[in-house]
Amino acid sequence: MKRVAVYCGSASPEDPRYLALASDVGRTLAERGIGVVYGGGRLGLMGAVAGGALAAGGEVIGVIPEALVGSEVAHHGCTELRVVSGMHERKRAFTDLSDGFLTIPGGVGTMDELWEAVSWAQLGYHAKPVGLLNAFGFYDHLLAFNRHMIEVGFIRPAHAGIIIAEHELDLLLARMAAHEPHTPIFAMKAHDL
Ligand code: AMP
Repeated sequence: MKRVAVYCGSASPEDPRYLALASDVGRTLAERGIGVVYGGGRLGLMGAVAGGALAAGGEVIGVIPEALVGSEVAHHGCTELRVVSGMHERKRAFTDLSDGFLTIPGGVGTMDELWEAVSWAQLGYHAKPVGLLNAFGFYDHLLAFNRHMIEVGFIRPAHAGIIIAEHELDLLLARMAAHEPHTPIFAMKAHDL
């Protein structure tokens, strides 16, 4: 993986472990020679990922909609800051520019990005690894719900392994690098669905 899209919160939780984690993730990616593509913000975990990567000499590409530049949350220290017209163009850029998706703790915007990466993998719009860093067990409930969707039958067996979840970043990156694409819905016949 040359670049990963990192999805994470724009808020700063009181618990200092979250910002420290984000900064570590940025630094580790830079040390591995993996570029960061992200939402281009300077606040919260987003800013910490970018700051950690930039401080370690890494490449950071921010992709931010015009409306957010106006609200002064853009990180102007990025290697490259792409200003796009809106969220659809931004998401397209995340997918086009990256070789995988890495979600670390975050809120609603992060969930939107994670689930789009999962849904587009199921459909076949991309065949890139979708990693979830379950640091501090933050995503235990999400993973339990994902298992529930599999058990009930809303996630097909062929797609049960799309989310690659680990508690620890090194292991997660290794699994993402070794990822084998799943059979997408585009390649299935109606009777298999
Ligand atoms: P949230 O998890 O709700 O804080 O949303 C974070 C995700 O949504 C990030 O990965 C961004 O791509 C996008 N986003 C939300 N708020 C901002 C912001 N203030 N600046 C830049 N991107 C944002």
